[in-house]
Amino acid sequence: MKQFIEEMEEYARSKNVPIIEKESITFIMKYIKLNNVKNILEIGSAIGYSAILMASVAEDVKVTTIEKDESRYMECLKNVKKCGMDKKINVVYQDALEVNLMDQIEYDLIFIDAAKGQYTKYFEKFKYFLAPKGIIITDNLKFHGYVGSKKPIESKNLRGIVNKIEKYIMFLKENEEFDTKFYDVGDGLSVSVKKETR
Ligand code: MG
Repeated sequence: MKQFIEEMEEYARSKNVPIIEKESITFIMKYIKLNNVKNILEIGSAIGYSAILMASVAEDVKVTTIEKDESRYMECLKNVKKCGMDKKINVVYQDALEVNLMDQIEYDLIFIDAAKGQYTKYFEKFKYFLAPKGIIITDNLKFHGYVGSKKPIESKNLRGIVNKIEKYIMFLKENEEFDTKFYDVGDGLSVSVKKETR
């Protein structure tokens, strides 16, 4: 398993596929363990690196992971199969905003790590699939240090993404349904928990 994980890291480096930072996945794995998380939904599989690590935390952890890029989806499938996790990880090839989750199960953890410009939309859609004490974790809220910094941004594209992440952060802060904590871990993580209704 360890060697396999290292191979995936190497593959991601050489092909320039973004994978989650060590510190961030460690944070999430710890949460899964401490809170007895069983069902996980991941938006944005890439090559399956984080799905495989999350699923590896305990025997009864199951992951549904959604990827819209065909070559990444194929690579993810291959990796899931290769490490014998095809019974634990369900890889879905579709745009997360179009996916129709047929099983209607509730997830203890929803991990958002796909197109950064769509974060608010993912949140608004998938919050309905959250178990009562479930949480939504979002990755890359610092976006390589660009968010919340005074660094001048030349590229229009990049500026667009950074603006959208900043809007998402505001959306989380002002959200009346969820309480969100922000963590300076890896590339910036948030943990959103549904407020207790009284
Ligand atoms: Mg990420």
